[in-house]
Amino acid sequence: MTSPSIVRTSTAELYDAHVLKNYARAPLTLVRGRGTQVWDDAGKAYLDFTSGIAVSAVGHCHPHWVAAVQRQAGELIHVSNLFRNPQQGELARRLVQRAGPGRVFFCNSGAEANETLIKLARLHGMKKAGGEEARCFKIICAQHAFHGRTFGGMSATPQEKIQKGFRPMVPGFAFAEINHLASFAELIDDGTAAIFIETIQGESGINPCTPEFLAGLRQLCDRHNLLLMIDEVQCGIGRTGRFYAFEHAGITPDAIGMAKGLGGGFPIGAMWVAERHAELFQPGNHGTTFGGTPLACAAALAVLDVIERERLLEKVTAQSGPWHAALRQLVADFPQQVTGVRGQGYLVGLQLTSEPGPYLAALRERGLLAPSAGGNVVRLLPPLNATPEELAQSVQILRAVFAAKR
Ligand SMILES: *Cc1c(COP(=O)(O)O)cnc(C)c1O
Repeated sequence: MTSPSIVRTSTAELYDAHVLKNYARAPLTLVRGRGTQVWDDAGKAYLDFTSGIAVSAVGHCHPHWVAAVQRQAGELIHVSNLFRNPQQGELARRLVQRAGPGRVFFCNSGAEANETLIKLARLHGMKKAGGEEARCFKIICAQHAFHGRTFGGMSATPQEKIQKGFRPMVPGFAFAEINHLASFAELIDDGTAAIFIETIQGESGINPCTPEFLAGLRQLCDRHNLLLMIDEVQCGIGRTGRFYAFEHAGITPDAIGMAKGLGGGFPIGAMWVAERHAELFQPGNHGTTFGGTPLACAAALAVLDVIERERLLEKVTAQSGPWHAALRQLVADFPQQVTGVRGQGYLVGLQLTSEPGPYLAALRERGLLAPSAGGNVVRLLPPLNATPEELAQSVQILRAVFAAKR
């Protein structure tokens, strides 16, 4: 028998030896977080503008969130969806309050929320086709979209790097050009069930739909009896200064997918569907073991509490003005390196003229964590409760990096 090992293996070694190599990870091990700050295992502090990819909506370890999760963990964690739990009921009420008359299904991730939307579209198409299956199921999505890594999500994501190696995809997806209404209109036929789109494309580089375009999609869907399904997984839950980013366009979708920021770090996804389509789902035709546990819903309720009590939508709106202006000044000062600022609120992309990798490393070196996005973009995703000082600090760090690379 071998004696228990007393050799301490580093986290990096453990990852090298045992974790699946499906990520090109930054060489950084994070061990603690408070608010907008995280610390690595050497004690170095960083301003976290990754927020776990738009997840930590109220920062790390917000006291109200921690207390709510601790309280719920000691009360009841999981019961399955064979029974009711008070937290799921209350969270559904709060989301319906935000989205409008309708119903909510809870799951665990963005991809699962979107799978539910895709299944909703299939049910709607079957109803449209007089109850006949597999006749009306086309979903029109946008070029450069990102909807997740499941087979449905991948099939709605027309990107080589996502689909390569996994074909054949699920049939029934077509792709049109964002902000080009005619390109969507010309794909509509009798076999079309839905239009499915991100309000602001996140992964592909922060590409927003214009309000006019979204209003046009709403009209198209009304005219052709299609569902307008909006993926708010990244842009929703306050990130743009409205609870849902589509609110800026004044439209009402037929269904919404959400996840990332909803649990503030606890995994939870949700689909909202308008009341008039909610009966498409019947007992038995969809389900999940983990979706909507008391613990996950308590975490999400705490996020909604903090957004309301601390007036974070108002703060994001007010503070993003000066922050964006300071970022645009970087474009003016370093035109060889950065050519544009896109997005809304705290969902921002800086368009670089070259690969973001070296910039992300230099930012990290100077204490700012930010993710890239497609098309040479650096994404900036501060928590919704980032202070004006932290926003200003991010600009200082970016400025120092651009200046050093000039
Ligand atoms: C992240 C993301 C998803 C996938 O969410 P997961 O929780 O990673 O499954 C889907 N759609 C959009 C717009 C996203 O940003």
